[in-house]
Amino acid sequence: MSHSKDGADEDKCAFCGRTSRDVGMLIKGMDASICDSCIETGHEILHESSDGFQNKPAPLKMDELMKPAQIKEFLDEYVIGQEAAKRYMSVAVYNHYKRLIYTEKTGRDIEIDKSNIMLVGPTGTGKTLIARTIARLLKVPFTIVDATVLTEAGYVGEDVEGILARLLQVADYNIPLTQRGIIFIDEIDKIARKADTPSITRDVSGEGVQQALLKILEGTVVNVPPEGGRKHPEQKFAKIDTTNILFICGGAFDGIEQKIARRLNTRAVGYGQSAKSNIDRSNLLQYVMPQDLKSFGLIPELVGRLPVLTYLEPLSKEALRSILTEPKNAIIKQYKALFAIDGIDLSFDEDVLDYIVDKATEFKLGARGLRSICEAVIMDTMYTLPSSPDCKQFRVTLPYARERIEKVNLTQLKTAG
Ligand code: ADP
Repeated sequence: MSHSKDGADEDKCAFCGRTSRDVGMLIKGMDASICDSCIETGHEILHESSDGFQNKPAPLKMDELMKPAQIKEFLDEYVIGQEAAKRYMSVAVYNHYKRLIYTEKTGRDIEIDKSNIMLVGPTGTGKTLIARTIARLLKVPFTIVDATVLTEAGYVGEDVEGILARLLQVADYNIPLTQRGIIFIDEIDKIARKADTPSITRDVSGEGVQQALLKILEGTVVNVPPEGGRKHPEQKFAKIDTTNILFICGGAFDGIEQKIARRLNTRAVGYGQSAKSNIDRSNLLQYVMPQDLKSFGLIPELVGRLPVLTYLEPLSKEALRSILTEPKNAIIKQYKALFAIDGIDLSFDEDVLDYIVDKATEFKLGARGLRSICEAVIMDTMYTLPSSPDCKQFRVTLPYARERIEKVNLTQLKTAG
């Protein structure tokens, strides 16, 4: 050991040999020292060794489990409207947890089927938001993947196994924790096969991907290459059992209304006029059934593995207006908080909020557009006010908002959002 008593400069890391001058920090032990970067490398090795991978998370307990009504209440704080979807999700997630507890306790005496969920609804109505909010509540690893990038193994694009690699990463490479996670697969409708008949030619992005997805949804053991930040190429594959991973799929299913309408009409025959006239034609999505997903082009096996099917409604003007101010992290609240940090009291006139909603509706920007419009309204203010120390409050009025919005091209926001 080159540990000298009189000169700290001669202290060296016993692992890499660098002196205290070349490292961030050198920690001394009895007979040797170690530098900060060797500690970090050591930590990574420990973490990635198979034991670190297998650290069991604390067992789930029934009394710590939130009841469906409590889960829904939590969702209500963040998600406006969408009552049906929130109720279905709360029950499905509650059942999922009960199932996990049951399996951990008793092994597998009685197989309780997984309650994978399918959310059907126009884009920007809160599908991802609901899934994200639920994941936050449950404190389990959660990841969002876009079905459009998935291809069958061996084709250019992302393998279906790659989804699990992402979850593993989020779970900090802990396998048991990964096996309890939630995966949200967005735009599942984009992997529907084009015709309502099995394809003759190979359909790389459609049916093949559905088949591959089906396997992991059903529950299988997948060899997952642990990705990201690999410092140890000799790293073994992680074996992930997907039996207890909850899958939530979401899609807009553009045009599915026609299929629902057609089915409802055929059904109504023989049931008399009354069944038909009770149908609310303005929102046909509420009647969505598994067979509509099949006619849309999802394979029956996949539909069967997504037993909880629910819908989201298009957002009305009132809903958009509430989204601006009501959720716990509402956009307007966020801007107020941002300005408050600079000691400025920001306020919006009521008619400004109505105007923002009108613009979002006019340009069909939906909830996603609300933020871009707000941004356009107060961009200049955000630029100038922090340099005006005397300004203690700022009120956004309708003429001010109008002037700002007229400067930007809202159709451009549509693609940006
Ligand atoms: P999608 O249905 O396409 O998954 P998102 O959940 O990503 O839509 O919604 C986009 C954004 O719009 C959300 O981050 C949120 O700010 C807002 N939003 C959409 N729907 C709602 C809703 N029902 N309640 C509150 N905010 C919403």
